[in-house]
Amino acid sequence: MVNKRDYYEVLGVSRNATPEEIKKAFKKLAKQYHPDLNPDSKTAEEKFKEINEAYEVLSDENGRARYDQFGHNDPGAAGGGYGGFGSGGFGGGGFSGSGGFGSVNDIFESFFGGGGFGGQVDPTAPVRGSDLRADVLISFEEAATGVDKELNLSRMENCPKCGGSGAAPGTNRKTCPTCGGTGKTRVTQNTPFGQFQTVRSCNNCNGRGTIVDSPCRECGGTGRKRQERTIKVKIPPGVDNGSRLRMAGEGEGGVNNGPPGDLYIYIGVKPHKYFRREEDNVLCEFPISFSQAALGAEVEVPTLDGKVKLTIPEGTQTGTTFRMRGRGFPKLRGYGRGDQHVKVKINTPTHLSEEQKELLRQLGDLPLDDGDDKKGFFGKIFK
Ligand SMILES: [Zn+2]
Ligand SMILES: [Zn+2]
Repeated sequence: MVNKRDYYEVLGVSRNATPEEIKKAFKKLAKQYHPDLNPDSKTAEEKFKEINEAYEVLSDENGRARYDQFGHNDPGAAGGGYGGFGSGGFGGGGFSGSGGFGSVNDIFESFFGGGGFGGQVDPTAPVRGSDLRADVLISFEEAATGVDKELNLSRMENCPKCGGSGAAPGTNRKTCPTCGGTGKTRVTQNTPFGQFQTVRSCNNCNGRGTIVDSPCRECGGTGRKRQERTIKVKIPPGVDNGSRLRMAGEGEGGVNNGPPGDLYIYIGVKPHKYFRREEDNVLCEFPISFSQAALGAEVEVPTLDGKVKLTIPEGTQTGTTFRMRGRGFPKLRGYGRGDQHVKVKINTPTHLSEEQKELLRQLGDLPLDDGDDKKGFFGKIFK
């Protein structure tokens, strides 16, 4: 509502113009900026809208009086500017029923009975097929090793019987008699601004310029058919939950010999019972006994490659993490593999025999090296 041009200025008339002069100026401008005569021009579209709005107000005696008094700041015109649209200003009831101005398209639909304008699509132009999506769930191990999967999908393809022409085998599409093969027809319309010639898509051939006499039975003349396909997918090692693979050309078939779309495969990886993944590394916890931690030991840790030996050094604390190089996931981009991080957890024994307890009590009486922290702490206290 701000920075609007003055309505008289928009129509190029003086403030004393008679209703007749206003109407004349409007008709002239409306014809000049009519979007059918200025296809693809955003400026013309805007201009045309502006002209219409100015005319709506100035052609209405009341509206004009209020505008003369208040300008664009009419306090009585709350909610959508001047409410007088649809009052029959266009004689034939052009705008009535449309509830005021929506988009410019709305305006044209009310004039020309639908169809809009501009952006006419050539129905014979090649169109690329749609992309398709498929979801695949694989195991943690399969993500590491890679796996071949078969996917069942249903997609639109060129009809195999007629090769996409829609004409029954042995017959051909023929030139549309209505439009002579141009796919377009001219329509003369009478509007409040005078006569307009508009070019429309031919109704008989839907703008294609050709028609089918005997439609292909397989596809009903559409040239397309839904097909069930089994696609073999090679999932590379190293994929992660949420990875996306693209299979070029495996989407839906194109129209009018357009290229097919692509198939996007979204990978889901099932969680593992023991392993977790962080980037290309495998994380796990591994329980060891109190004596293994104290005395050191060689243990067998499960990895993506099966069980692998890991040396626990003497005096290992619970929570210590050991790195097993190259036991992680293959790197999807680049070479090599991530690592496995093994966090050891010391199991404190619970069901001890009397004999075992006695041994531990004896152990408790021995002056033990309890680790650096405690050593320092006790060292200070018992000095
Ligand atoms: Zn067919
Ligand atoms: Zn036609």
